[in-house]
Amino acid sequence: MSQLGRPTSGKRRLKDLLDQRDNRVCADCGAPDPKWASANIGVFICLKCCGVHRSLGTHISKVLSVTLDEWSDDEIDALIEVGGNASANSIYEAYIPEGVSKPRP
Ligand SMILES: [Zn+2]
Repeated sequence: MSQLGRPTSGKRRLKDLLDQRDNRVCADCGAPDPKWASANIGVFICLKCCGVHRSLGTHISKVLSVTLDEWSDDEIDALIEVGGNASANSIYEAYIPEGVSKPRP
């Protein structure tokens, strides 16, 4: 990647990440076509789970709309660094207590 060229726009980088197969469903409940993302946790989530994440507070999950909100480069970098749903879930769901199951849509 050239340092002189125009950096790829933030919206473009977000969309590229969202287009990856793992990110086409909500990280939390599996609902299709998530339109929201937690910038600091690095997952794409649906509207319902967005509400749950918001209720946790922005110090735990900073939720932004993929299409409506303005993302700073730092927020996009953080999301890309985690890499989206599959890698975030491999961390956060690495140890699920027995008898606990993931919510469904
Ligand atoms: Zn969901």
